[in-house]
Amino acid sequence: MSLNRRDFVKLCTGTVAGFGVSQMFHPAIREALAETLTGERPPVFWLQGQGCTGCSVTLLNNVNPGIADILLKIISLDFHPTVMGSEGEQAIDFMRNTAAAKKGQYFVVVEGAIPLAHDGKCCVIGEACHKEITMVDMVKELAPNAAAVLAVGTCAAYGGIPAARGSETEAMGVSAFLAKNSIATPVVNIPGCPPQPDWIVGTIALALSLIKEKGLQEGLAEVVKILDSEGRPKPFFGRNVHENCPYLKDYDNAKFCATFTQKDGCRYDLGCKGPQANCDSFERKWNGGVNWCVANAVCIGCTESDFPDGKSPFYSN
Ligand code: SF4
Ligand code: SF4
Repeated sequence: MSLNRRDFVKLCTGTVAGFGVSQMFHPAIREALAETLTGERPPVFWLQGQGCTGCSVTLLNNVNPGIADILLKIISLDFHPTVMGSEGEQAIDFMRNTAAAKKGQYFVVVEGAIPLAHDGKCCVIGEACHKEITMVDMVKELAPNAAAVLAVGTCAAYGGIPAARGSETEAMGVSAFLAKNSIATPVVNIPGCPPQPDWIVGTIALALSLIKEKGLQEGLAEVVKILDSEGRPKPFFGRNVHENCPYLKDYDNAKFCATFTQKDGCRYDLGCKGPQANCDSFERKWNGGVNWCVANAVCIGCTESDFPDGKSPFYSN
């Protein structure tokens, strides 16, 4: 199966004939990748800044495609502190040498925020020649010559919890950090706390298939075209949770839940932030399609740039 950009976007939103919502896009991503990712795949370096590693865990939990397929068939993940076999200076050297050899062609994935306080020493990600390397150092080193930077998770995209009120680390998201350091490399935000793994894999797949089809610069330009004003891919973040929620009728009829154990009724009075949130988890769901935030609790607006301060308190009552 061959997918053009329009089909891919439709597929991500579950509207291509033959792909019901329950099937979503997973098998098609694999088919598209099987066609588009023949030959060499661009290196991907995954850096972990100030975060909880939850974004790595969400990727490791992806059901279809599973993590083995993601690592072996979809991306060439040349550096990832949690899953790579090598470690220490050897791993850092390999990343640096690969980046030098593939200038302008590699991707940097950032997970977690970038803390500036204390000369960046709040987040030391490795060392070389007995010298500590901070997250600040490494992003400054790798980002300028990357084809693009993917900010995975709300901490990386907008600062998130590490940058919340009272933060001691002066943490910030990737776009703000690159702007502050006059680095013009394009940034794609894949927020969520953590992001649904399809959003990560789907965005990488879309970017790689467009680059394969149109070449690096034109392909990246196409990727930038599908981003919203917050730098997020519209196929995954282009719809409002509230407007697509199964409880919208209850909201309109003022039928509100009074407790979390109540299964019917809109969760607005419990603190639901669905009206302010944009993502497709109402249909993509989580845990391989088993459940989603609003079914068992409330939406906390984790995909938005003002999360968590602007979405607190998460719960009412
Ligand atoms: S549960 Fe939340 S998202 Fe759903 S209709 Fe109510 S307020 Fe909107
Ligand atoms: S529904 Fe709300 S809490 Fe769930 S992923 Fe989307 S923005 Fe985050």
